[in-house]
Amino acid sequence: MIFKILTLFPEFFKSPLSSGLMGRAAEKGLMKFDIRDIRSYTEDRHNRCDDYPYGGGSGMVLMPDPLFRAIEDAKNDDTRILLTAASGRLLTQEIAGGLAAEKELCIICGHYEGVDQRVIDRYVDLEVSIGDYVLSGGEYAALVIIDAVARLIPGFMSNSESLVEESFEKSLLEYPHYTRPPVIDDMAVPGVLMGGNHGEISEWRMKKSIEITKRVRPDLYKRYIKSKILGE
Ligand code: SAH
Repeated sequence: MIFKILTLFPEFFKSPLSSGLMGRAAEKGLMKFDIRDIRSYTEDRHNRCDDYPYGGGSGMVLMPDPLFRAIEDAKNDDTRILLTAASGRLLTQEIAGGLAAEKELCIICGHYEGVDQRVIDRYVDLEVSIGDYVLSGGEYAALVIIDAVARLIPGFMSNSESLVEESFEKSLLEYPHYTRPPVIDDMAVPGVLMGGNHGEISEWRMKKSIEITKRVRPDLYKRYIKSKILGE
């Protein structure tokens, strides 16, 4: 998978994309990161990328022409073009799964008040929001999108089985985890996890998943119940 990132702050991505699992996946050739500076596509002397909004209002808007050139230079027939936007579709595990099947993603990082609408109209396949809050720049969102997608690419995780049982699979949040020691400051690991009875362990985990989902995310819990009723 190739990730092309169009940003005003290329240096932002250096450490996160070369550390940990992500760095290892890039070294193994599972994915390639191609970070491009939008400013290098400007043609005026001041390398200007933003301008005042028509109609007034506070803040600046990313100008279309440097972005047009940057996108034309980055895209080919296999490229899905994403824009980070607080007003985009909310990123979910399901959307991440769909994106993981693409050959090439180009992520445009918005800044200031956002980008000129004509960039979206001409090029953008999907506007993605990472949550109902406003960030100062699309770079943070781009990293979240990349991470959520990357870990679904076969070979990224050493233990791909762990993907099957994770939060949001089957609309449930994950059960609690414990490791050694068995007791710390008189807090003991639940006995069932140490009993070795796999049936009982699965049952306990499922019960906990349901309990946690119901308490923390009633919206997901409703979806879970609905899928049970429909026998999905
Ligand atoms: N005026 C915009 C917010 C601009 S924030 C609005 O009201 O929607 C600056 C940039 O940060 C945006 O262009 C976008 O690329 C990014 N951004 C902010 N919040 C985001 C979110 N929740 N998800 C994804 N990107 C976000």
